[in-house]
Amino acid sequence: MMNCPSCEQPFDTSKTCPICGFDPRKSSWVVITKVYPPNDMIVESLLTSFGIPVKTIRKEISQMPVAIGPLAEVAIAVPEFAVKEAKAFLDEAEFIVE
Ligand SMILES: [Zn+2]
Repeated sequence: MMNCPSCEQPFDTSKTCPICGFDPRKSSWVVITKVYPPNDMIVESLLTSFGIPVKTIRKEISQMPVAIGPLAEVAIAVPEFAVKEAKAFLDEAEFIVE
């Protein structure tokens, strides 16, 4: 579980912090790294397991049934307040973070 960026208490990132009223849903999303499948699944489940909300942004390539190489790149985004934690976790897991 993550700590609230405002009051430092553990909190559920899908809800408003019950202690200080910080609303994680108002945070903007930041792309922290770009990976290739199947690492997107690994990174997503890793961050989720730490209680960090994560969005994956895939490039849509309508003409190609199977995206290959750089075209299959997946951007990993987390809320702004979780960027530092997310990068630290990925660094520990030895995923390259820009
Ligand atoms: Zn709080």
